[in-house]
Amino acid sequence: MDIIVQKYGGTSVGSVERIQNVARRVIETKQSGHHVVVVVSAMGDTTDQLITLARQIHKNPPKRELDMLMATGEQTSMALLAMAIDEYGYKAVSLTGYQGGIHTDGYFSKAKIDSIDPHRIQEALEKDQIVIVAGFQGYTDALEITTLGRGGSDTTAVAIAVALNAAKCEIYTDVLGIYTADPRMVSTAKLLPTISYDEILEMAKLGAGVMHPRSVELARKNNMPLVVRSTFDFTNDGTEIIEVKEMEKAQVRGVTLDEDIVRISVPNVPDRPGIAYKLFSSLINLNVHIDMILQNLNHDGFNDISFTVPLEDIDRIIPTIEAFVDEVGASPILVKKDVAKLSIVGTGITSDVKIASGLFGKIYELGINIEMISTSEIKISCIINQNQAQQALEEVHRYFEVNGL
Ligand code: ADP
Ligand code: ASP
Ligand code: MG
Repeated sequence: MDIIVQKYGGTSVGSVERIQNVARRVIETKQSGHHVVVVVSAMGDTTDQLITLARQIHKNPPKRELDMLMATGEQTSMALLAMAIDEYGYKAVSLTGYQGGIHTDGYFSKAKIDSIDPHRIQEALEKDQIVIVAGFQGYTDALEITTLGRGGSDTTAVAIAVALNAAKCEIYTDVLGIYTADPRMVSTAKLLPTISYDEILEMAKLGAGVMHPRSVELARKNNMPLVVRSTFDFTNDGTEIIEVKEMEKAQVRGVTLDEDIVRISVPNVPDRPGIAYKLFSSLINLNVHIDMILQNLNHDGFNDISFTVPLEDIDRIIPTIEAFVDEVGASPILVKKDVAKLSIVGTGITSDVKIASGLFGKIYELGINIEMISTSEIKISCIINQNQAQQALEEVHRYFEVNGL
């Protein structure tokens, strides 16, 4: 019998009725002749509430304890779902990340799964049980509990699907599937029946919170069929994520906005070989995602170096950058928090200059200054002021929609 892995997000398990709805869907899948492994998130906004609680106790909670705390959210929903399934007369067992064999590295709050030992899940399936695994958590060699970063349950689901050689992995969420933009921010966003792994991976990295980027990476690497669909409308097929073999006409497939970034500038850095290496190598051990690096050529042997980092990392990295400034004699760093990254995504879009010029033209028309630009084969990103970002998102989406998005 083949295995289907289904993942249900926070809203999908946000109340007793919703947990019962999920239980019925899971049983339906089981009845249609499959083994089912379910991965659940914490109920509703439980994870946010747990973090708020921790901050009321401690202004900078120890990371180990924060992971201990956050991991409880998923354990509540997994046990309740197992009970709901049992109440409907089917056999179910819930497993924590540790019991499910989800082994990770030791980076609390952003751990990566490095292997899965699925034997306990397999044993339960052999007993014909429905297996429910807590999303978002794992364990380390030192038997510490880790979490995988916000939204990480998607990655738990795909990693388990790969480890079990499942037939497919279905991500059930609170919208119909993947849209051309966040449907909560752009009312005219369109549901995409298919999207390529590369495109949704890029969109996820650029702020489309619908998928955890690592989940897409894992699915692509292992050719795991992946579907994103609604918990509230089982009649809709949602979005299928596919491998695109032949490149069609370059086309914008999605527009994203990331407001959780900060721009850091280090002015007047001496212009000499090895200086960028010195700055960025000092950040290696902090495990921070640096993006959009820009070096402005100044006069008199000095440059400005700017880059963006996730908002959540800013406090951690400032002391290291200040130490660099002191060492090389640059000017004090400038930190700008009211910025946002607006991006367009689509395979091959940078090969058609009409697309880039269309984007920049639209932003210009709105009277918005572009502070930084970065491109790859599949995306163009602009850093703009945050207070104009929402308007820019809608207008840029409309522009590409009219022009064949
Ligand atoms: P879950 O708890 O099910 O994992 P998430 O909140 O993590 O749900 O992800 C679903 C949300 O992602 C949607 O409610 C939507 O607001 C947001 N989202 C952002 N970009 C997109 C997009 N391009 N397509 C669909 N949803 C998106
Ligand atoms: N509960 C976690 C979060 O809110 C993980 C997830 O939902 O995927 O980020
Ligand atoms: Mg999510």
